[in-house]
Amino acid sequence: MKWFISHNTIRSSFQLTLEKECGEKVSHCYQCGKCSAGCPIAFQMDYLPNQIIRMTQLGMEQQVLSSRTIWLCASCLTCTVRCPREIDIAEIMDYLRRQAYKKGIIPVEETEIPLFNKIFLRNIELFGRLYEMGLIGMFNMLSGEFFKDVFLAPKMFLKQKISIFPPRVKNIKETRAIFKRSGKLGKAHRDKLLNPRLLFLNLSRKIIGKIAKRDNS
Ligand code: SF4
Ligand code: SF4
Repeated sequence: MKWFISHNTIRSSFQLTLEKECGEKVSHCYQCGKCSAGCPIAFQMDYLPNQIIRMTQLGMEQQVLSSRTIWLCASCLTCTVRCPREIDIAEIMDYLRRQAYKKGIIPVEETEIPLFNKIFLRNIELFGRLYEMGLIGMFNMLSGEFFKDVFLAPKMFLKQKISIFPPRVKNIKETRAIFKRSGKLGKAHRDKLLNPRLLFLNLSRKIIGKIAKRDNS
């Protein structure tokens, strides 16, 4: 019996969707490992970047989307510039994060990362550039750690690393227009940020995670 194996028949639907929506050819990866060898966060990841790519090729959607790796990726692009197959791995990580977020799959230990991302973007949209005090205050409030790093604040004030007042930015309307155009912080997005259900979910996941960690230690 003859078997015809073509490029198209061996690709998983997960891989096909990713390649279509993200525009990156995951199938071009030949597992050289250069991406993982250069990744500065690899030591913290549950799967190395090349493993994420391989799992994507194999259609292991659930495992990929529930991995810590996609949330820990710092988008530093080291892997992207090292890849001999010119695969933009950082872009793939970003795509996978968006998919995981859409499906509500966020590992317990990393629930604060999407929250931080959203507060960060909202901060830039509001002030035109980063207003650290606003970011810290909002993040502490919504993550439930009200007094986190609070004792560092006086030192940072004295060294003029942070200011009580928001920065003054000329043409702030232009920045807001960019956000509006990109649609990344449209109304639906803001509603999600302040969605009590999501905040409650984040907090409860965090508490459960801490209890589980304490029981295991
Ligand atoms: S560097 Fe590129 S080809 Fe090599 S393992 Fe990573 S993704 Fe695959
Ligand atoms: S972009 Fe992400 S996966 Fe790639 S090297 Fe940087 S931290 Fe690692």
